Amino acid sequence: MIAFTLQNNLLIIVGALVGSSGAILSYIMCKGMNRSFFNVILGGFGGEAAGPAAGGHGDKQAKIGSAEDAAFILKNAGSVIIVPGYGMAVAQAQHALREMAAILQEEGVKVRYAIHPVAGRMPGHMNVLLAEANVPYEDVLEMDEINRDFSQTDVAFVIGANDITNPAAKKDKASPIYGMPILDVESAGTVLFVKRSLGSGYAGIENELFFHDNTMMLLGDAKKMCEGIIKALEQ
Ligand code: NDP
Repeated sequence: MIAFTLQNNLLIIVGALVGSSGAILSYIMCKGMNRSFFNVILGGFGGEAAGPAAGGHGDKQAKIGSAEDAAFILKNAGSVIIVPGYGMAVAQAQHALREMAAILQEEGVKVRYAIHPVAGRMPGHMNVLLAEANVPYEDVLEMDEINRDFSQTDVAFVIGANDITNPAAKKDKASPIYGMPILDVESAGTVLFVKRSLGSGYAGIENELFFHDNTMMLLGDAKKMCEGIIKALEQ
């Protein structure tokens, strides 16, 4: 509008490009969440629901592990799928993560990355960060390409991600994320979750996966945890 007011053609073109890029990103985001544009704009979700879990889920307690435990599990695995999320971006853990993956690959572990369309806070967020850390493109797979492989994978290494793995999206009709496709990390042999607490993610809801028998929580900052795992792998 300002460009039209100023009758500045360059500004009109730039404004149109920015506007259309925004529209395309919004479309990808809505498709990734399986929600309509108006539902996203008007319905909201994010931070309004349940608070963080206190450490238990009914009578189930979360298993808490250390960097050394994680290193032991990872180096004894045949295949690992890494699931990065918003927390990896906040912690800027992508370089340490790539280094950890490289050590595992040198030891003969098959390591790949699974990218959910709305992992992080904008479409493509994770792809950009992994590319910045020089993660090979062929190791990075979109959700539809890799989701079926979790059931034949020894370890799902979820780093700073939460909602994009939450089974409530499939099972709980009352959940704000119901209907959003998720990464099926729960079907992997072991699920390792790197995050600082048992708290919720963007949608503000508890994730029952934290309390599953095959889940181990690695509580701490994503970058520091990766550095700890690297140290333990090198020993
Ligand atoms: P989430 O927001 O669900 O979870 C991120 C997790 O990262 C949190 O639970 C937090 O747990 C953890 N975390 C934060 N800081 C750190 C840190 N320094 N080290 C380790 N962990 C950390 O992110 P997801 O990527 O799983 O899902 C994205 C969410 O954002 C979805 O709900 C999606 O719909 C929404 N969204 C995505 C958009 C997109 O286009 N990509 C746009 C708008 C919304 P803790 O505090 O315990 O550490």
